[in-house]
Amino acid sequence: MSPLRLICVACGNICDPREHDTCPHCGPDEGILDVEFDLRQAGGLPGKLAARPHNIWRYAELLPVDTPPQSLADIGWTPLIEAPRLAAELGVARVRLKDDGRNASGSFKDRASAVGVARALQQGFREIACASTGNAATSLARCAASAGLSATIFVASSVPQGKLAQLLVYGARVFCVEGTYADAYRLCTEACQRFRWYNRNCAVNPYLVEGKKTAGLEIAEQCASDPPGWVVLSVGDGCSIAGVAKGLREMHTLGLLERLPRMLGVQARDVAPLAAAADSGTLDRGGRGSTYADSINVPIPRNWRKAVAGVRHSRGAWVTVGDDQIRQAAFDCGRLSGVFAEPAAAAAVAGAAAARRDGVLGADDDVLIVITGNGLKDIAGALSALPEPHRVPPDIAAVERIVTGANP
Ligand SMILES: [Zn+2]
Repeated sequence: MSPLRLICVACGNICDPREHDTCPHCGPDEGILDVEFDLRQAGGLPGKLAARPHNIWRYAELLPVDTPPQSLADIGWTPLIEAPRLAAELGVARVRLKDDGRNASGSFKDRASAVGVARALQQGFREIACASTGNAATSLARCAASAGLSATIFVASSVPQGKLAQLLVYGARVFCVEGTYADAYRLCTEACQRFRWYNRNCAVNPYLVEGKKTAGLEIAEQCASDPPGWVVLSVGDGCSIAGVAKGLREMHTLGLLERLPRMLGVQARDVAPLAAAADSGTLDRGGRGSTYADSINVPIPRNWRKAVAGVRHSRGAWVTVGDDQIRQAAFDCGRLSGVFAEPAAAAAVAGAAAARRDGVLGADDDVLIVITGNGLKDIAGALSALPEPHRVPPDIAAVERIVTGANP
C-alpha cells in the first residue's frame, strides 16, 4: 500500500481517513470521498509485475490493503476474449470481452468485496454487511465465507433466485427488504452504525472503488501495447465505471498504458439517471423506472459524481438501451462469442450496438466490453431472451422432421 489521502468529490476537501467515511461539509449523499495514492511511491510497480501472481493483489502498491488474505488469492485476472463474430454483428472492427463472470462468485463485484473483506480483517472487524441489488451481496458472502468473516446482507425482495441461493449457501444472514434497493441501502447503513459492522457499500466506503479499479489496471496491462479505443460498461450505482476509469488513468500515469481508452457508460432506458446527470450536471433524486437487468436497476445512484467525471475525463459518452435490446444482446453475446452474460452485462453489449447505430462508435473502432456478471446468476432473466427448445417425442422421425425442415 502506498501513502494515500481521501478527497471529497464534491468540494475537494481533504478528509482524515481515521475520522470520516464521507465529507463532513457535503454530507453522506453528496460528500463521497475518493482515494488518491501518491503514484510517485508506486513508480517501481511496472518492473515488479512479471514476478507477481495473477490476481488483484499484484497491484499491491495501488490498493488500500496491508496484507492481502491468502484465502482471496483467486480474485481477478479474468480473461480477455476475442469476439470477431460479435464485432461483425455490432459493425465495429474489433470486440474483446473482459469476462468478469469468471470471478469466484461469478461477477465483477468480487474485486470490491475482496478489498472490503481484507480491510475489515485489517481493522479487526468480525462482521461485514452490505446492501445490494445482488452481485455485491453474493460476492461479499463468498469472500467473507472464504476468509472466515460473518456477513449480513440486505437485498430487495426482487433478487433473482440464483443470487439468493448463492447468498444462502455461503452462510450469510440475509434480510430480504420489502421495498426498493434504496430502502435496503438505508437499512444497511443504519444497521452498520448500530451494530458496529464493517460497511461494504461502495459509495460511502471509498476503499471499495479501489477494488473495482483493478479491472482497469488489468485491462491496461492485458492491452498495454494494443489498447482499445473504447471500454464499455453498464452502469448502476456508478462505482464500477468510475473504478475502471481510474485504474486505466493510473496505469497511463505509470507509463504502462500507451493511450487512454474512451469510456462508454450504458444505462437502461427507463433507469438512466447518470446518463441524464452527464447532460444536466445534477442528479435527479426523484428517480423512478425499472429494468429487468437487476444489477443496473438503480433509480437513485450513490456515486454519480465519480461516474460522470470518469466518463467525461476520458472524452467518453453515455447511451441508453431498452430491455428488448438487452435481451437480444444477451442472445447475440452467447451465440456469437461463447460468453453467457447476465442481463446487466448484456446491457453493455446492447450499449455498444446502440452507440454504433447512433454514430458514437464507427466501423473502425476497437471496443472492449466488460462482462460484469455470469448469466447463470439469473436463469429466469436469461430464458426470457431465448427461443423455445424443440419438444419432441422419443422418435428419430420427429427429430428428422425438424432437422430437415420437413412438414409433419
Ligand atoms: Zn465535500
